[in-house]
Amino acid sequence: MSKTPIGRIIIENAYIAPVVGEEIANGHLVIEHGRIVSLGAGRAPISGDRAERIDAAGCLVTPGMVNTHHHLYQWATQGLYQDATLFEWLTGLYSTWARIDAEVTYGAAAAGLGWLALTGTTTSTDHHYVFPSGRGDLFEAEVRAAAELGIRFHPCRGSMDRGQSDGGLPPDEVVERTDEILANTAETIDKYHDPSFDSMLRVAVAPCSPFSVSETLMRESAVLARDKGVRLHTHLAETLDEEHHCIEQMGCTPVEYMDKIGWLGDDVWFAHAVHLHDKDIRRFAETGSGSAHCPSSNARLGAGIARVKDLLAAGAPVGLGVDGTASSELTSMAGEMRQAMLFQRAVHGPTALTARQALEIGTLGGARNLGRHTEIGSLEPGKLADIAIWRVDGFRSAITDPVCTLVFGPTPPLARLLVGGRTVVENDELRTVSQDAVAAAGVNARKRLLREEV
Ligand SMILES: [Zn+2]
Repeated sequence: MSKTPIGRIIIENAYIAPVVGEEIANGHLVIEHGRIVSLGAGRAPISGDRAERIDAAGCLVTPGMVNTHHHLYQWATQGLYQDATLFEWLTGLYSTWARIDAEVTYGAAAAGLGWLALTGTTTSTDHHYVFPSGRGDLFEAEVRAAAELGIRFHPCRGSMDRGQSDGGLPPDEVVERTDEILANTAETIDKYHDPSFDSMLRVAVAPCSPFSVSETLMRESAVLARDKGVRLHTHLAETLDEEHHCIEQMGCTPVEYMDKIGWLGDDVWFAHAVHLHDKDIRRFAETGSGSAHCPSSNARLGAGIARVKDLLAAGAPVGLGVDGTASSELTSMAGEMRQAMLFQRAVHGPTALTARQALEIGTLGGARNLGRHTEIGSLEPGKLADIAIWRVDGFRSAITDPVCTLVFGPTPPLARLLVGGRTVVENDELRTVSQDAVAAAGVNARKRLLREEV
């Protein structure tokens, strides 16, 4: 593990795509004490004495990816129910997930976060909502995995309190009592949430979905989050099955339901938001409600294609998410930029989403979802040095536009990934933790949860 203090770092000879401001074909970027202090054309106009110099010739420098939807524990259940709809997939997996414990959670989080870092992600959320009693401290386990890796982490305290006996989808054995959820969520925020500018850990409140959570818990979660000054997250409008369920059980569509219970606002972001009506998109824009677009997962489950072009045109915040790996196996954030761009074009034509727009939703759009757009998501002086340095040389240099190489093509190799100026990945290898150990922890999590021989 690197113990070197983070001083001055100078990145030179790079193509820089800062997301905000002009791109620089051959430029430099200077980092001091974990923050960007300057960037510009040519060589850095300051002394390199005692600085670490990174020669980024043949590389594209972008902000690190910001992943705004995930279920890290699903690393242990990848590749199952390969041809199922969302509701079939959920009902098939709930009984397996009910066996989860802290050891499974730790191993899956270590591997899942390591994979995200290796594919360019510097900040990730996680939405953990399965907390069977007596299985250890699951939240602490994933926080520990993120801290060891050195990724900026926004774990959500998820929850389910509406089991089958109350008309919900999950079996009663995986839901918790409403009062216990609210008490534990408040404790979790008090224990872990750090609101500071360069925070490595912020907690969000995230009841799972309208079909697994009571109206009381949805309302009380919003009250709690706003009282504590943290953000709100949930799944919404993922499938038409969900819309039918909401109309039948609540008498309105999913977005109407959110509006009714005070869940629209600029402190909320929703996973998926695939099946939106025109008036829903207007309400998202009016209220600043964000969405985490997860194109691979939505396609894998046959859920549909979110109206990203229309949301962006209306001015609503949009970020990207890989979603849990049980519904988007081994997915990378760079890959999601490509999927998002291709899917919008497949529906709306070749101008529907540009490479630069895809890069923006994968970085700054995600930062906005997490309420961190003044701190991360673009390369600007004063922002945190969360930076991906992609190799776009060799075969990839046949394309003259490096942003096109990144978004149109498969995920490029990573020369370096910096989180707050600290090197987490170098030449496609994790540097803060043992890559082999993290990969093995993910396999052990699967064996333990699926009761294979460990
Ligand atoms: Zn999800």
